[in-house]
Amino acid sequence: MPEFDTVVVGAGMAGATAARLLTDAGQRVVLLEARTRVGGRMHTDRAAGFPVDLGASWIHGIERSPLWDLVQALGIPTVEFTVGSFQAGGRPIADFDGTGRRMSAAESERWVSEVAMADRAVEREIARSSPGDTYREVTERALDGLERLEDAMDPERIDEIREFFRHRVEEQCGAWIGDLDAHGLDEDAIDGDEVIFPRGYDELPTRIAAGLDVRLSHVVNRVERGADGVRVDTDRGAFTAEQVVVTVPLGVLKAGGIVFDPPLPDDVAGPIDRLGMGIFNKIFLQFPERFWEEGVYAIRALGESGEHWHSWYDVSAISGRPTLLTFAAGPLGRRMQTLSDDEVVRDVARALGSLYGDIPAPDAQWITRWAQDPYTLGSYSYLANGSSHADHDALSGPVDGVLHFAGEATWGAEPATVGGAYASGVRAAERILGRPVDLTAFAEGVRHGGA
Ligand SMILES: Cc1cc2nc3c(=O)[nH]c(=O)nc-3n(C[C@H](O)[C@H](O)[C@H](O)COP(=O)(O)OP(=O)(O)OC[C@H]3O[C@@H](n4cnc5c(N)ncnc54)[C@H](O)[C@@H]3O)c2cc1C
Repeated sequence: MPEFDTVVVGAGMAGATAARLLTDAGQRVVLLEARTRVGGRMHTDRAAGFPVDLGASWIHGIERSPLWDLVQALGIPTVEFTVGSFQAGGRPIADFDGTGRRMSAAESERWVSEVAMADRAVEREIARSSPGDTYREVTERALDGLERLEDAMDPERIDEIREFFRHRVEEQCGAWIGDLDAHGLDEDAIDGDEVIFPRGYDELPTRIAAGLDVRLSHVVNRVERGADGVRVDTDRGAFTAEQVVVTVPLGVLKAGGIVFDPPLPDDVAGPIDRLGMGIFNKIFLQFPERFWEEGVYAIRALGESGEHWHSWYDVSAISGRPTLLTFAAGPLGRRMQTLSDDEVVRDVARALGSLYGDIPAPDAQWITRWAQDPYTLGSYSYLANGSSHADHDALSGPVDGVLHFAGEATWGAEPATVGGAYASGVRAAERILGRPVDLTAFAEGVRHGGA
């Protein structure tokens, strides 16, 4: 008889959720995690005495969000911050034009309405796109259409919108615009405000995993399916179970980090191949004093002045010190990983200086390199050209009724998010239990701490 009912691989949001639900249902569960901590891509650095979220920061839209319901039930405090998804407006943004000049409120307003107009044109092009079209192709067609209008915008404005689209794909998907499928931003709608976590986002998976049988520093390298269930090999020995839930990131699956025996069938191996794993890195700079305006959520440089570094988010509310967060995503994200911390900081500070003149040198910095992390190998999944929405859910399996996959990449309605990871963990548990689970009871159990 196998040692466990279920082995769960990976103690991020998806794995912790699945393991917790199954344990609460009375199963014998072990949660195997390669790192020395739980949380995966929800990773809060508290070394400086305040939390810095190096992975996920936001709930992107709290309306009709089971994740928000959970956060509320657990009494975890949040701060409203509604430009976490790449929007042209919505909250005060200090915009700078292509020459690095601060735009007036009226100019910003015009910019927001021009982007909205271009977005409507892109939506029309997506609706009439053919399989295989990239997001770059549909946006180019939309911009061509705008150029042909009788009262066309001047070409510089069109170029700024082109850059904006490129940057949006980089920030939302971690990918170059020409690698994203035309439908790659379909699930990107935000319902309601966005929020961030002043105590650090990893509180959530940490509390979910509290009291579970978690084995840290266990690197899984092989999953075997047999007549008696599954055998999961780690660098510290083997575990046997009736079923297994694998929640390692798509980057690890793509790299063949776990050998599956027998090999995965095409309906799961195909999506692993076709979906993309994006790169999205964070750079936090903390300054001795504030040099940007009070009350702005974000600083954004358009056109040429924002070719590389273009958006900075004021996250001072978390530490109480003047702090800006910027991102390096897609091709810039990959290139940035080859630079030293000093080189990155100098480059970002130079870009900020071109907008604000003399700025003080930052006195602290946090820089991520997620694509070099062997337990992620990228930041989150995206709809690479040639893949389809159905690939996300197909990736969840199950295979032979015993091998389940969960994690953000397996949740087609909301991939690349904590909400998607959470939902996928719930789905895996429901499939194993063969019945729906009660999320109110789940939240109540987590609130009272420990399984
Ligand atoms: C920089 C960054 C910013 C982000 N910002 C946001 C945001 O603001 N909002 C949002 O909703 N989402 C955001 N995301 C995405 C979000 O973090 C993820 O979608 C979510 O945390 C994924 O959870 P998961 O359980 O699927 O995977 P993970 O959290 O990656 O968990 C998988 C676990 O598997 C472990 N593992 C890997 N290989 C092995 C192995 N061989 N053996 C054992 N264990 C292994 C890993 O160590 C990890 O703990 C961001 C991601 C990044 C990188």
